[in-house]
Amino acid sequence: MFVDIHTHIDNQSVIKIVDGDVEKILKTVGIHPWKLDRHFDWSEAKWRNLLRLRGVDFSTSVEMTRFFAIGEVGLDKVHKETFEKQLEVFEEMIRLSESCRKPMIIHCVRAYSEIIAARKKTKAVMPWVIHGFNSSVETMRQLLRHNMYISLGEVLYRNENQAIDILKNIPPDRLFLETDVSGRNIRDVYAKAAELMNCDIDFLCRQIFENYGRLETTDTDSGR
Ligand SMILES: [Zn+2]
Repeated sequence: MFVDIHTHIDNQSVIKIVDGDVEKILKTVGIHPWKLDRHFDWSEAKWRNLLRLRGVDFSTSVEMTRFFAIGEVGLDKVHKETFEKQLEVFEEMIRLSESCRKPMIIHCVRAYSEIIAARKKTKAVMPWVIHGFNSSVETMRQLLRHNMYISLGEVLYRNENQAIDILKNIPPDRLFLETDVSGRNIRDVYAKAAELMNCDIDFLCRQIFENYGRLETTDTDSGR
Protein backbone atom coordinates (compact mmCIF):
# COMPACT_ATOMS: atom_id res chain seq x y z
CA MET A 1 0.00 0.00 0.00
CA PHE A 2 1.50 3.30 -1.12
CA VAL A 3 0.14 6.57 0.23
CA ASP A 4 0.91 9.56 -2.00
CA ILE A 5 0.05 12.33 0.42
CA HIS A 6 0.08 15.07 -2.19
CA THR A 7 -0.43 14.88 -5.92
CA HIS A 8 -2.61 16.50 -8.56
CA ILE A 9 -5.27 15.11 -10.84
CA ASP A 10 -6.83 17.47 -13.40
CA ASN A 11 -5.30 20.45 -11.60
CA GLN A 12 -6.85 19.38 -8.33
CA SER A 13 -4.88 18.57 -5.24
CA VAL A 14 -5.57 15.04 -3.98
CA ILE A 15 -4.24 12.23 -1.81
CA LYS A 16 -3.80 8.94 -3.63
CA ILE A 17 -3.63 5.50 -2.05
CA VAL A 18 -2.29 2.80 -4.32
CA ASP A 19 -2.99 -0.81 -3.40
CA GLY A 20 -1.94 -3.16 -6.20
CA ASP A 21 -4.01 -2.12 -9.20
CA VAL A 22 -6.52 -0.20 -7.11
CA GLU A 23 -6.19 3.52 -6.64
CA LYS A 24 -8.23 5.38 -4.05
CA ILE A 25 -8.46 9.13 -4.55
CA LEU A 26 -9.18 11.43 -1.64
CA LYS A 27 -10.09 15.01 -2.37
CA THR A 28 -8.64 17.99 -0.64
CA VAL A 29 -10.05 21.49 -0.81
CA GLY A 30 -8.37 24.82 -0.35
CA ILE A 31 -7.01 27.95 -1.94
CA HIS A 32 -3.42 27.68 -3.13
CA PRO A 33 -1.35 30.79 -2.31
CA TRP A 34 -0.49 31.19 -6.02
CA LYS A 35 -4.17 31.61 -6.81
CA LEU A 36 -4.49 34.74 -4.73
CA ASP A 37 -4.14 38.26 -5.96
CA ARG A 38 -3.92 41.33 -3.79
CA HIS A 39 -7.56 42.09 -4.36
CA PHE A 40 -8.80 38.63 -3.50
CA ASP A 41 -12.10 39.30 -1.86
CA TRP A 42 -12.63 37.08 1.08
CA SER A 43 -16.23 36.23 1.65
CA GLU A 44 -18.02 33.23 2.91
CA ALA A 45 -20.13 33.07 -0.23
CA LYS A 46 -17.05 32.71 -2.42
CA TRP A 47 -15.55 30.07 -0.23
CA ARG A 48 -18.75 28.07 -0.21
CA ASN A 49 -18.96 28.33 -3.97
CA LEU A 50 -15.44 27.04 -4.28
CA LEU A 51 -16.28 24.06 -2.11
CA ARG A 52 -19.44 23.40 -4.07
CA LEU A 53 -17.38 23.33 -7.26
CA ARG A 54 -15.46 20.50 -5.70
CA GLY A 55 -18.58 18.67 -4.68
CA VAL A 56 -18.46 19.64 -1.05
CA ASP A 57 -21.46 20.90 0.79
CA PHE A 58 -21.33 21.99 4.39
CA SER A 59 -25.05 21.89 4.90
CA THR A 60 -25.09 18.25 6.03
CA SER A 61 -22.57 16.29 8.02
CA VAL A 62 -22.81 13.44 5.48
CA GLU A 63 -21.30 15.64 2.79
CA MET A 64 -18.39 16.44 5.04
CA THR A 65 -16.91 13.05 4.45
CA ARG A 66 -16.53 13.78 0.76
CA PHE A 67 -13.19 15.42 1.24
CA PHE A 68 -10.31 14.31 3.36
CA ALA A 69 -8.22 17.37 4.06
CA ILE A 70 -7.86 21.11 3.61
CA GLY A 71 -5.21 21.70 0.96
CA GLU A 72 -3.21 22.65 -0.59
CA VAL A 73 -3.02 25.90 1.27
CA GLY A 74 -0.12 27.82 2.69
CA LEU A 75 2.40 30.61 2.42
CA ASP A 76 4.90 31.41 -0.33
CA LYS A 77 7.39 34.25 0.01
CA VAL A 78 8.40 34.08 -3.63
CA HIS A 79 5.00 35.70 -4.20
CA LYS A 80 5.80 38.68 -2.00
CA GLU A 81 3.16 40.96 -3.46
CA THR A 82 0.34 38.87 -2.06
CA PHE A 83 1.96 37.76 1.18
CA GLU A 84 -0.34 39.71 3.47
CA LYS A 85 -3.38 38.36 1.66
CA GLN A 86 -1.88 34.88 1.87
CA LEU A 87 -1.61 35.20 5.64
CA GLU A 88 -5.21 36.32 5.91
CA VAL A 89 -6.49 33.45 3.77
CA PHE A 90 -4.21 30.92 5.47
CA GLU A 91 -5.70 31.80 8.84
CA GLU A 92 -9.19 31.31 7.40
CA MET A 93 -8.13 27.88 6.15
CA ILE A 94 -6.84 27.03 9.61
CA ARG A 95 -10.16 28.02 11.14
CA LEU A 96 -11.95 25.85 8.59
CA SER A 97 -9.64 22.91 9.29
CA GLU A 98 -10.23 23.22 13.02
CA SER A 99 -13.98 23.67 12.75
CA CYS A 100 -14.53 20.66 10.49
CA ARG A 101 -11.69 18.65 12.08
CA LYS A 102 -9.73 17.99 8.93
CA PRO A 103 -5.95 17.85 8.57
CA MET A 104 -4.18 20.39 6.34
CA ILE A 105 -1.77 19.83 3.45
CA ILE A 106 0.53 22.83 3.43
CA HIS A 107 2.59 24.47 0.71
CA CYS A 108 5.42 26.50 2.24
CA VAL A 109 8.20 28.43 0.55
CA ARG A 110 10.56 30.42 2.78
CA ALA A 111 7.83 31.02 5.33
CA TYR A 112 8.35 28.30 7.94
CA SER A 113 8.48 30.73 10.85
CA GLU A 114 5.20 32.31 9.71
CA ILE A 115 3.60 28.85 9.48
CA ILE A 116 4.66 28.12 13.07
CA ALA A 117 3.52 31.57 14.21
CA ALA A 118 0.10 31.00 12.61
CA ARG A 119 -0.23 27.64 14.38
CA LYS A 120 0.56 29.26 17.71
CA LYS A 121 -1.69 32.27 17.08
CA THR A 122 -4.71 30.16 16.13
CA LYS A 123 -3.94 27.45 18.73
CA ALA A 124 -4.58 24.90 15.97
CA VAL A 125 -4.50 21.22 16.96
CA MET A 126 -5.33 19.39 13.72
CA PRO A 127 -2.42 17.60 12.04
CA TRP A 128 -0.55 19.65 9.41
CA VAL A 129 1.52 18.05 6.66
CA ILE A 130 4.24 20.26 5.18
CA HIS A 131 4.39 18.99 1.63
CA GLY A 132 7.44 19.17 -0.64
CA PHE A 133 9.68 19.92 2.33
CA ASN A 134 13.06 21.16 1.18
CA SER A 135 14.86 22.84 4.02
CA SER A 136 17.30 22.16 6.83
CA VAL A 137 17.12 19.57 9.58
CA GLU A 138 16.94 22.44 12.07
CA THR A 139 13.83 23.87 10.37
CA MET A 140 12.35 20.37 10.29
CA ARG A 141 12.92 20.00 14.04
CA GLN A 142 11.08 23.25 14.70
CA LEU A 143 8.12 22.04 12.68
CA LEU A 144 8.15 18.67 14.44
CA ARG A 145 8.09 20.42 17.80
CA HIS A 146 4.77 21.92 16.70
CA ASN A 147 3.34 18.55 15.90
CA MET A 148 3.61 18.72 12.13
CA TYR A 149 4.34 16.04 9.55
CA ILE A 150 6.95 16.33 6.80
CA SER A 151 6.38 15.11 3.25
CA LEU A 152 9.29 14.59 0.85
CA GLY A 153 9.20 14.32 -2.92
CA GLU A 154 11.53 15.97 -5.41
CA VAL A 155 14.17 16.73 -2.78
CA LEU A 156 15.00 12.99 -2.84
CA TYR A 157 16.19 13.40 -6.41
CA ARG A 158 17.33 17.01 -6.58
CA ASN A 159 19.22 17.34 -3.33
CA GLU A 160 20.21 13.87 -2.20
CA ASN A 161 22.55 14.97 0.58
CA GLN A 162 19.91 17.13 2.19
CA ALA A 163 17.33 14.38 1.77
CA ILE A 164 19.64 11.86 3.47
CA ASP A 165 20.16 14.32 6.31
CA ILE A 166 16.40 14.79 6.74
CA LEU A 167 15.67 11.06 6.49
CA LYS A 168 18.37 10.25 9.06
CA ASN A 169 16.87 12.67 11.54
CA ILE A 170 13.13 12.43 11.04
CA PRO A 171 11.14 10.20 13.38
CA PRO A 172 9.53 7.70 10.94
CA ASP A 173 6.12 8.39 12.46
CA ARG A 174 6.23 11.95 11.05
CA LEU A 175 7.20 11.09 7.48
CA PHE A 176 5.15 11.18 4.27
CA LEU A 177 6.12 10.80 0.62
CA GLU A 178 4.56 12.45 -2.41
CA THR A 179 4.75 12.89 -6.17
CA ASP A 180 3.13 16.36 -6.42
CA VAL A 181 3.43 17.52 -10.05
CA SER A 182 6.55 15.45 -10.85
CA GLY A 183 4.70 12.81 -12.85
CA ARG A 184 6.72 10.11 -11.07
CA ASN A 185 5.27 6.80 -9.91
CA ILE A 186 4.78 6.84 -6.14
CA ARG A 187 6.35 3.35 -5.97
CA ASP A 188 9.58 4.82 -7.35
CA VAL A 189 9.54 7.59 -4.76
CA TYR A 190 9.23 4.98 -1.97
CA ALA A 191 12.06 2.97 -3.53
CA LYS A 192 14.24 6.06 -3.69
CA ALA A 193 13.55 6.98 -0.06
CA ALA A 194 14.16 3.40 1.08
CA GLU A 195 17.49 3.40 -0.75
CA LEU A 196 18.55 6.68 0.91
CA MET A 197 17.36 5.46 4.32
CA ASN A 198 18.87 2.06 3.82
CA CYS A 199 15.62 0.35 4.80
CA ASP A 200 12.97 -1.89 3.22
CA ILE A 201 10.23 -0.43 1.05
CA ASP A 202 7.82 -2.56 3.10
CA PHE A 203 8.89 -0.79 6.26
CA LEU A 204 8.12 2.58 4.64
CA CYS A 205 4.76 1.35 3.34
CA ARG A 206 3.69 0.13 6.76
CA GLN A 207 4.97 3.19 8.61
CA ILE A 208 3.48 5.76 6.24
CA PHE A 209 0.14 3.99 6.06
CA GLU A 210 0.06 4.10 9.85
CA ASN A 211 0.88 7.83 9.73
CA TYR A 212 -1.93 8.37 7.24
CA GLY A 213 -4.26 6.42 9.54
CA ARG A 214 -3.45 8.89 12.28
CA LEU A 215 -4.58 11.79 10.06
CA GLU A 216 -7.78 9.92 9.32
CA THR A 217 -8.45 9.02 12.93
CA THR A 218 -8.64 12.69 13.67
CA ASP A 219 -11.64 12.80 11.40
CA THR A 220 -13.30 9.72 12.86
CA ASP A 221 -12.77 11.04 16.37
CA SER A 222 -15.05 13.93 15.64
CA GLY A 223 -17.86 11.47 15.01
CA ARG A 224 -18.26 12.40 11.34
ZN1 LIG B 1 1.14 20.57 -5.25
